[in-house]
Amino acid sequence: VPIPSADAVHALLEEAYDSFRDVTEGALSSAVPSLQLANPDHFGLAVMGVNGRLHERGDSRVPFTIQSVSKPFTYALVAQAHGIEFIRERIGVNATGLPFNSAQAVEQGVPGPTNPLVNAGAIATASYAVGEGVEERWSWLRNGLSRFAGRDLTLNHDVLESERATNYRNRALGNLMRSFGALTGSPLDAVEIYTRACSLEVTAADLAAMGAVLADGGVHPVTGQRVVSAEVARLTLAVMLVAGMYETSGDWLVDVGMPGKSGIGGGMVTVAPGKGAFSTFSPLLDHAGNSVRGGRVATMIGRTLGLDMLASR
Ligand code: GLU
Repeated sequence: VPIPSADAVHALLEEAYDSFRDVTEGALSSAVPSLQLANPDHFGLAVMGVNGRLHERGDSRVPFTIQSVSKPFTYALVAQAHGIEFIRERIGVNATGLPFNSAQAVEQGVPGPTNPLVNAGAIATASYAVGEGVEERWSWLRNGLSRFAGRDLTLNHDVLESERATNYRNRALGNLMRSFGALTGSPLDAVEIYTRACSLEVTAADLAAMGAVLADGGVHPVTGQRVVSAEVARLTLAVMLVAGMYETSGDWLVDVGMPGKSGIGGGMVTVAPGKGAFSTFSPLLDHAGNSVRGGRVATMIGRTLGLDMLASR
């Protein structure tokens, strides 16, 4: 299947927006208090091809916190810095079948926390951010995530404060992993770096660009900068297939057939390897924490453009 034409993509975004704008199912995340302040009406869509062309519809420039959509990109940066085998041995790449913040996942995956897209694995991944001390390692990570977006990403301090005030469970996961030697350095430093990554502000347009880097074998289609190697991009897409949509990743694979990642801020990115990526922002979430409208859009776009990787056609 060839890369869809710009006109086809444009028309499809219009159609997806009109079809799902009235969907009001789902609920704002209750996991982080300040996420309750989100506007449930917000609905943005964006597509970026590996040719760098960006298409947008609706609230595609409204900022929101990236949350768990940061996880695959942090993983890619850390795998690039330390080597695929080193990181794979320590974090693992298999599904847990458990909720994203499960402590059972940690014990199950001893010594590693099973995969980088559940909280435990993501905190362990953050512990491998390069540098000395929280500030240097955070700046390394923020710069890397910004290279994926192609612009300088900054923190939402209200969300960061709200997370810090309530992330007892993530701190417990960090400490538990430290007891197994499943992360490096101070566990609470790792949690802090992880929490900052979750609190970065992005737009749907940013997520489309970040996904397009993975689609483009690690090169940003607009800046032309190589962010990670093609092997690391492929590894990252593999873990997104395994665990991108929390415990409903299997349903996602059946419905959409492409690697994707969601976050409780309402962001979602889907990657069509070699072709491009699309993203949505809509903060109403299903029981697993995935954006309801985002899932509908992904299913529709995947089918209409023939992007499902598993279809034989
Ligand atoms: N910061 C959130 C947490 O660690 C992210 C959760 C998510 O998007 O899945 O609980």
